[in-house]
Amino acid sequence: MNPNEMYEYVERIANLIRTRVRKTGLACGVQPVQMEALHYLSRCNRYSNTPVAVAEFLGLTKGTVSQTLGVLEDNGFVEKTTDARDRRVVHLHLTPAGSEVLGQSIPPDVLKSAINELPEREQRQMAQSIEHLLLCLQRANGLKTFGACRTCIHHQQTDDAQRRCGLTREILTESDASKICREHMPAI
Ligand code: SF4
Repeated sequence: MNPNEMYEYVERIANLIRTRVRKTGLACGVQPVQMEALHYLSRCNRYSNTPVAVAEFLGLTKGTVSQTLGVLEDNGFVEKTTDARDRRVVHLHLTPAGSEVLGQSIPPDVLKSAINELPEREQRQMAQSIEHLLLCLQRANGLKTFGACRTCIHHQQTDDAQRRCGLTREILTESDASKICREHMPAI
């Protein structure tokens, strides 16, 4: 496939998904950028649920993100806690109301149905190709990968199935392994 064709498909798919998410989000009183912040916070690990990381992931200024997070907090969709080691650092967590809004919107039902129509083998191949394409684009733009912890070069797993982060030396759970991280370094 040539780049023009690829661009057209990716753009149209992205537009369709964005339109559907925007529609369901607005029906719950949540703006598109607020929905993106909620989605990020639902997937990131404990090292990455800070306002700075949200700004990096969304490619927005700290001021814009601060405003977005403020609205989400005022509406009861996220809550803040202070870091136990460094009281200057704030962590953000989804509330049950935030999780509920997100669950109704992402991923959109139309996308789920379209993917389910494809054979499983094709779904796996497509996911790998899209992941690879994303990685290439992130590298070309000098962006952080924000990949899943289990695919990070620092992810260590011992024989007794204990997981540890090689960077922080902290123990990781199975759930941590599937979350995305701002310190992620791809193994390939
Ligand atoms: S192993 Fe990598 S992705 Fe996982 S917590 Fe450590 S730095 Fe983050």
